[in-house]
Amino acid sequence: MHAARRTFQRRAMQTATKAGQWMEGEIGYETKLVHAGVKPDNDSGAILTPCFFSTTFVQESVDKYLDKGYSYSRTNNPTVKALEDKVATLENAYGAVCVGTGMAATTLIFAGFLKTGDHCVITECSYGGTNRIAREHFQADLGITFTFCDFRDVDTIKKNIKPNTRMIFSETPANPVLSLVDLDAVSALAKENNCLHVVDTTFVTPYILRGLDHGADIVLQSLTKYYDGHNITNGGAVICKNKEIYDRAKHCQNMHGNIMAPMTAFFQLQTCKTMGLRVEKQSKNAQKIAEWLETHPKVTKVFYPGLKSFPQKDLADKYHRNGLHGGMLWFDVQGGSPSGKKLMDTIQRPWSLCENLGSTESIITACAVMTHANMLKEDRERVGVTDGFIRVSCGIEDADDLIRALDQSLAQI
Ligand code: PLP
Repeated sequence: MHAARRTFQRRAMQTATKAGQWMEGEIGYETKLVHAGVKPDNDSGAILTPCFFSTTFVQESVDKYLDKGYSYSRTNNPTVKALEDKVATLENAYGAVCVGTGMAATTLIFAGFLKTGDHCVITECSYGGTNRIAREHFQADLGITFTFCDFRDVDTIKKNIKPNTRMIFSETPANPVLSLVDLDAVSALAKENNCLHVVDTTFVTPYILRGLDHGADIVLQSLTKYYDGHNITNGGAVICKNKEIYDRAKHCQNMHGNIMAPMTAFFQLQTCKTMGLRVEKQSKNAQKIAEWLETHPKVTKVFYPGLKSFPQKDLADKYHRNGLHGGMLWFDVQGGSPSGKKLMDTIQRPWSLCENLGSTESIITACAVMTHANMLKEDRERVGVTDGFIRVSCGIEDADDLIRALDQSLAQI
């Protein structure tokens, strides 16, 4: 027997252990995906955290109010708390607050951390809903100002900082054009200027990138996407670096009543266990499809952070873990918008033409009329989202089937 193995066995035999206790030592990320935040139910031993459908929680006495941690489900619910603890562990956070959707998380962040008269420098390319609520609600209705600019260049962000800037809001990779942000540099800039750095990393998941590890103060996740990963639920999370930020986020959630339903938390506690497996396969499918698209004569442009031709390849390799770059890509075809639309109108199953991303099902999205319709047309076109822009979310099906269906549609344009 190998000497090291013998030593290991001898040491293992000397320590008395007990079933149900966690072994000592560092736990790997895949194990955390399955087990973080969750323990067998005290009363029944149920391996899954039960779905607590209960508005209120009975107190033993007035003096012992909140001894068990729960009072009213708008404030805290045990199933949602288990998901919050899991998300916090997976993102290396102090704490996470789970809310009804990704947009609810965005709303909480703007409302909770900015006030009238404050200014925010925000990426000009983001999920369309983020852009809309900043412009139409927080700026037009509530007097917080926003400067939208190109986040590929840290100097541009720097030039747009004003004395009243309180927040820098990035998204990496940005939806839908996949531009990347140098998070370490932007976090340093935020710190120098006494601002919060918020980053939306929905597109790559914490399996690939953890924004807090790169100095961000808050990470935003649409849990609807890869955490859920099966097109079942909507959810969002405000993921906080420290107690002060977490306490403020939690307080705002309670005031706003912006909660996640326990059933959603129950589903996401199960679906996110396989996030690593899914993201590996989705990334592999995306890489294969992107490489194939690059060789197709009717394809004029393919953007995927795993391609050598990707303009910010250095940043992709620096920030994306394990050589994975996620399931999202986009491409342009000969003939511009009419051809792009034709491809999306002719694409067969297994592809689905719809909104959403990050799921087991592969999805093609016409961003101009779906996810980014709520941006001003000129803003959308300035960042390259034309009417025929084709956004792809690779699922976990056989890559060859996905390629065959794309080939058939490309033959028709
Ligand atoms: N952030 C990004 C990057 C997104 O793609 C989306 C939605 O597509 C959101 C936030 C908003 O999430 P939700 O649809 O869960 O409100």
